Amino acid sequence: MNSKKEKTIIVLLLGFLFLSGWTPVTAASEKITINKANVQQGGLIKVTVPYDLKEGQVLFAGNDYDFKTEKNKAVTLVPVSYWLETKRYKLSVVNKEKQVLKKWSINVQDGDFDKSYLKVDKENQEKVKPTDPKRQKRRKQDKKLVYQARIASSSERLWTKSFIRPIAEGRVSTGFGATRYHNGNLANRHSGIDIAVPAGTPIKATNAGKVVLADDLLATGNTIISDHGWDVFSSYLHCSELKVKRGDKVEQGAVIGLVGDTGFSTGSHLHWSMSIGRIFINPADFIRLKL
Ligand SMILES: [Zn+2]
Repeated sequence: MNSKKEKTIIVLLLGFLFLSGWTPVTAASEKITINKANVQQGGLIKVTVPYDLKEGQVLFAGNDYDFKTEKNKAVTLVPVSYWLETKRYKLSVVNKEKQVLKKWSINVQDGDFDKSYLKVDKENQEKVKPTDPKRQKRRKQDKKLVYQARIASSSERLWTKSFIRPIAEGRVSTGFGATRYHNGNLANRHSGIDIAVPAGTPIKATNAGKVVLADDLLATGNTIISDHGWDVFSSYLHCSELKVKRGDKVEQGAVIGLVGDTGFSTGSHLHWSMSIGRIFINPADFIRLKL
């Protein structure tokens, strides 16, 4: 044995550990936490930091997310799009000088989404991909309205309780993220869950918030979008009746509309979706969310 060689190896190993970021854990870094490192496509990750790091950011999958402040901490909800490829991604917390304070390897797992095949008749087809110029114009305007509804969100969290299903009972006829085929052609992913219940069933607000859209739209029928603050939005589509108007503040559980089959629909149901900005998230992740 060459003891000089062994010493050199130990010195090199220690040097490597030091350079690779093996440093004593500081109290501040211990307080930087995430709620999960394994997440399914369409899920969300909660990142919590001490209050004095509120001007920092979270970097994930090519996007950056600002923190929202709570009493003695700062939090951000990071959306994992259902379009993200299944692999490992780096999630870093940086301070306002952009120095990395802590990082994780996030394992984005398959969302295990269903496949949903729909037979679409001409009438329904005209509501999503119209050929009539008048309808084309309306569809374009509708898309703009929906886009604008989610541009700004209250910087304050408008909710305090856990999110609830807008209709407690009722079969989920199409699950979140389902790959949709219209007449055999790949159309989209399903951005929410469909709850199949009779027309007229009351729809309850999933949480406290402010109505940012309540309108009759070509593709989604009578539609409600609510802002809950912190870039969290809920949407309720195909209503037979709207019970709220834009600007209304609603409490959790308030009846905001009735179930129907307006717009592109093949039977009475509520399409309920949740999003962070414009990235749709599995509503189940919001129901499970604890702050
Ligand atoms: Zn739906």
